[in-house]
Amino acid sequence: MLVISREHPSASHHHALEVSMTLYVAVDCGGTKLAFAAYRSLTDQIPICPGFTITTSGNYAEDLESLKTGIKRAAIEAGYSPKDITAIGITLPGRLNAARTMLEAAGNVTEWVDKEIFRDLQSAFGCHMILGNDGEGQALAEAILNPELAGKELLLVAPGTGIAIARIHDVDGRMVSMATEGAHQIINPLGSTPRMCGCGHNNCWESYASGDGIEKRYGKPASELTLEEWDEVAFWMEVGIANCLSLHMVPIVVLGGGVIAGQTHLVANLAKRLGSRRMNTPSPDVIQSGFGERAGTLGALAMLTLAA
Ligand SMILES: [Zn+2]
Repeated sequence: MLVISREHPSASHHHALEVSMTLYVAVDCGGTKLAFAAYRSLTDQIPICPGFTITTSGNYAEDLESLKTGIKRAAIEAGYSPKDITAIGITLPGRLNAARTMLEAAGNVTEWVDKEIFRDLQSAFGCHMILGNDGEGQALAEAILNPELAGKELLLVAPGTGIAIARIHDVDGRMVSMATEGAHQIINPLGSTPRMCGCGHNNCWESYASGDGIEKRYGKPASELTLEEWDEVAFWMEVGIANCLSLHMVPIVVLGGGVIAGQTHLVANLAKRLGSRRMNTPSPDVIQSGFGERAGTLGALAMLTLAA
């Protein structure tokens, strides 16, 4: 659970370090690639290093080297030296341990689970560093950087390789971001053709509505689906989101993730489906994240707004 700070997030940093230049490196670790960007301030939406990706191998030792290489390259491409990095924010595709130093469970990068990611990167860079869940980061970015969503409760649903999900909700007047494992709700327990999920169970929502699940089901990437196939996917997205809303009861659904990007027809389809679905909760406003491909690294940047 992440509490959104109301103070200017980087103020204490500037003070403690007494430097006028800051450099924040944001890393979003997905199921298939690592995305890097560098920012000058925690509230900038435009990176000073435009961003690049490195494909993951799935092997932790190799991917750790890619993480180190990418973080250094982000600093250099931004015109700095790696030793100038003020702080590094990293989001991970899975459930973190309570100390936020490693993954405890993951549907995709399963070899990363229980590896000392925080320690291994801390020893290489030595700067302030925060690790978090990818959905939590993206929800936080929406709450912090989109003025229209400030102070509002919402559910972030971002189908990429898997499905990142988190909600922003009000706890006694404080807005907090909390990841959920809603991607692994069993959405079709009696499905006649079991679909194995990366988590080890059959028929999770992720195996019906994530990029990986769509590719396995249709034999092609989501971007190549026909409108008819999209409508089938939209049905499963609708059911999964409605289930999440029945548990979390928030008025706004923000759709993000690589599967949604560029599919405005899908956003409209889901808005219509959820708007006309009979639910015991109010019909939600369904909106598309405006951050596009930057959503992941902006989520990692948003992690750094949390009090150290
Ligand atoms: Zn699963």
